[in-house]
Amino acid sequence: MQALAERLQSFLGGASLVSLDLQQFSALKTFDPQPESLLGSELRDVGRRGKYLVFDFGGPRMLIHLSQGGRVDVEDPPKRTKPRGAVVRLRFDGRPAILAKEFGTERRAGLWILPEGEDGPLERLGPEPDSDAFAKLVLEGDDKRRVHTILRDQRTVAGVGRGYSDDILHRARLSPYATLAQLGEPDRRELHAAIGEVLDQALEVERRRSGGLPAKLGDHFTVHNRYGRPCPRCGADLRRVSYESHEVTYCPTCQTGGKILADRRLSRLVR
Ligand SMILES: [Zn+2]
Repeated sequence: MQALAERLQSFLGGASLVSLDLQQFSALKTFDPQPESLLGSELRDVGRRGKYLVFDFGGPRMLIHLSQGGRVDVEDPPKRTKPRGAVVRLRFDGRPAILAKEFGTERRAGLWILPEGEDGPLERLGPEPDSDAFAKLVLEGDDKRRVHTILRDQRTVAGVGRGYSDDILHRARLSPYATLAQLGEPDRRELHAAIGEVLDQALEVERRRSGGLPAKLGDHFTVHNRYGRPCPRCGADLRRVSYESHEVTYCPTCQTGGKILADRRLSRLVR
């Protein structure tokens, strides 16, 4: 999202909004101000907060949250088609248009128009992963939840997500079941460094993209979704374990002292 926001800023920064074509009405989560009120406004900045794209119109802001299957097309020249899954098309004076869309049956992409000074859903987001506030939580916090759960919780830290959570635990050599409160200082330092390194690396890769956010994102995770393949660090077979309706990929050799974790969801079904 960060890299996408940077690209959109480079295409669209300073342009005025010509049209906002809502193609999926349920996606609009706010009633006031009306989307039309933004027409003619200059787009000052495109940024990101958590997993939200933030379009700043010099006071009022528009947020777009793409669900898991959400994508953005950059249309140059702008189109008038209505492809399947289309959510909203924004057209700008003399610039490419952007079309946000989503795939799959889960309709979860959202659009918010916020009046000046209001944060809407951003209010509930935790600090960014590279902030001092989050560093303090990792290094000193006594949160008793699993590290993986903490990293996925947008109210605790914004914008990490489960794929990078898998890679962060692997990089920090922590078990998928490790809880923050139980970690000693060296593990916490390792964890904090791993968060920074994994996210920096991801941003670097994403910055090499051009245009929108394509349907096939490719896969540059180190371990996430790569179970059965060799661990890039030690060569052991990567495993997966399910809990809380999530699947975590891990390396038994690097992360659990060789122990294969029991798949709790599966064993519950068997029992
Ligand atoms: Zn390994």
